[in-house]
Amino acid sequence: MGYLGGFLVSLRQIGRKQRVTTQYPKEKAPKPARVHGRHVLNRYEDGMEKCIGCELCAGVCPAKCIYVRGADNEPDAPVSPGERYGYIYEINYLRCIHCDLCVEACPTEAITESKMFEFSFTNRADAIYTKAELVVDDEGLPQKLPWEDWRPGEDTQTSAWMRATSPSGAANFEGIVGWSGELGYGIRAPEAAQDVKDAITAKHDDHGHDDHGHDDHGHDDDSHDGGH
Ligand code: SF4
Ligand code: SF4
Repeated sequence: MGYLGGFLVSLRQIGRKQRVTTQYPKEKAPKPARVHGRHVLNRYEDGMEKCIGCELCAGVCPAKCIYVRGADNEPDAPVSPGERYGYIYEINYLRCIHCDLCVEACPTEAITESKMFEFSFTNRADAIYTKAELVVDDEGLPQKLPWEDWRPGEDTQTSAWMRATSPSGAANFEGIVGWSGELGYGIRAPEAAQDVKDAITAKHDDHGHDDHGHDDHGHDDDSHDGGH
């Protein structure tokens, strides 16, 4: 790039809205909805824990940083619905790479990630989060540990896109997204692209395309018929 070319680059910036540096960490910039931060273990609206101790999260974790042991629920004092619950649950944050595979593997939406990644430790024991530290409190909010930097409002962002679930085994619900309720929130509103109507429309789009081989215009028309 010659002298004139470089000068044109500067000229093009005149009048454009410039980015302003955020004074981090004093001031945090808003985080995207898909940021993966510190995990939480969720509970149902009645306070029961969602974890059933199945160990799928531990099995899928590429960093081998989850340790789970399940135990049978006491019939008179169950911790979770069903037979089993997570008796021991630990995540080693010296190894976690925040890939979210544990979240995707979980059949009950028990484990999700908050958006808070500002946490640092001064010893190894603090880096290994126990179940007592991971499970949400009685308001359904993450517990605030001394070495974590939570700001107002951040603790409500704990599950985002993984709240969708599939009602177990009922054929009438095929292709329909269900929403798992949470302690303190109930059933949160889906994100814009996760509306149930959108899910049904997408399903009809797929079928129209696969079954009839319609071009783009053809299956667009089908989807409108089926989705409304
Ligand atoms: S986010 Fe990834 S690395 Fe971290 S605990 Fe889950 S599966 Fe393991
Ligand atoms: S967090 Fe989910 S995947 Fe992991 S043991 Fe509990 S129920 Fe199973």
